[in-house]
Parts: sequence; C-alpha cells; structure tokens
Amino acid sequence: MGCERQHEAPLASAPEELTAAQAYLSELGYFQMQHLPISGTVDEQTWRDFDKPRCGISDLDASHFWKSGPRAPARWEKSTVTLAVDPDAPGWTRDVAREASRVWQSQVPLSLQWVDAFHTADIQISFTPDRHGDGASLQPPTVAHAFAPGTRWSGNVHFRAATKWASTMTQGVLDLQTYMIHELGHALGLGHSSESASIMRAQPRNGQRELSPRDIVAIKALYSRHD
Ligand SMILES: [Zn+2]
Ligand SMILES: [Zn+2]
Repeated sequence: MGCERQHEAPLASAPEELTAAQAYLSELGYFQMQHLPISGTVDEQTWRDFDKPRCGISDLDASHFWKSGPRAPARWEKSTVTLAVDPDAPGWTRDVAREASRVWQSQVPLSLQWVDAFHTADIQISFTPDRHGDGASLQPPTVAHAFAPGTRWSGNVHFRAATKWASTMTQGVLDLQTYMIHELGHALGLGHSSESASIMRAQPRNGQRELSPRDIVAIKALYSRHD
C-alpha cells in the first residue's frame, strides 16, 4: 500500500516565515509527539503509556494519514461535509457519533450533515477487523485511526471491532465517545497534541467528552486560515 506522500513546495522559505509556519502548525498539534517525559531513557511511565490503548496515527511519521512536508494541514474546502455510520455498526453508534459531531460542529464554519448513504459520505465511520485494506492495521494497543481530508482514504474513521467499547461511562471499558470525538478531529484535519487536557492526545483520557481551550483554538485556526 503506497503512501500518499506529496512533493509540494514548502509553505515558507525565509527563516522567519518558516519559524512562524512551524509555530502555527505546532499550535495545531501537527508536530507534537505524545505527552511523555523526555528523559532520554525508557522509564516506567513510558512503558505504562506504551501499553495503554491509543490512536493509530503515528506521532513521528504520519505520512500515511497526512500529507507530508512543511505545509499547512489539510481541511475540508467545501461548506457541507456529510457523515455516515456503517449500517453494520451497532445501533447505538449513531447516537454516539452524532453527539461527538456536535462537539466539533459548534467550532467549525462547516455544516456537518448526517446522511444514510454510507459509501458516498465524506466521513465514513465503521468498525473494522484488525487488517482492513487501508495499509494501517489496528492491533492493540492501537484501537482506532482516521484519515485527514485530502488523503487517499480521506475521512475514513475506523474503530477496532475486536475492542470492547462502551456507550456510557463504564469502568475499565473504552468510551467510544471519547475516541469518536478524537477521530473526528483527525477527519476534520487536526493532528495529535501533546497538551495534557487535549482530546487530541494520542492516548486520550478515557471518558473525556469535550474539547480543551487549545483544541478549540486549533480547529478555529485551521478553518479560518486564508490561503
Ligand atoms: Zn489520533
Ligand atoms: Zn483503517
């Protein structure tokens, strides 16, 4: 499965422009690694974090999911973006997904519109086997991933079918809504954030169902950018 690497001109070439561009992308969580202490050694906390469920978007090389290079992250360039849940998904998935989309809807100048036609929707949400044909398998601790706008699998949101998901807060079970909000963030164009309060951490806090103030800054910056 080939990567969707695109060789485009850098966003900026002068040093000060590059610094500004990097600061902007950094604010969007585009470059950040997951929130781990940079100790130079693999400490106990790091090992614990390796075992925790996480999103499958790589913190270092996400070129399969994102266009590579020092350029602005992709976003939807149309005013209405359609979403659909796979008809084979459990019925309660739709309620969770709609609730999650409302969290983002209030922050973007897009109309997020739910439709029944799954295969033609811009954002397609489904539960998948570990290997499912997009070249990015879901194996523990990886439980979900989603593709950015403008990539080959643009808007695809995949949850690992073999993982136990909860529709309501259940001790020890992953909250689907937490991950739904996180993955929809990717499907709208955001990368990972290292901020501890961010829903876009690679290992989001189970049960978190709202954006952090910086998540709001990031999504608003992405959709108010003029280029
Ligand atoms: Zn993620
Ligand atoms: Zn996938």
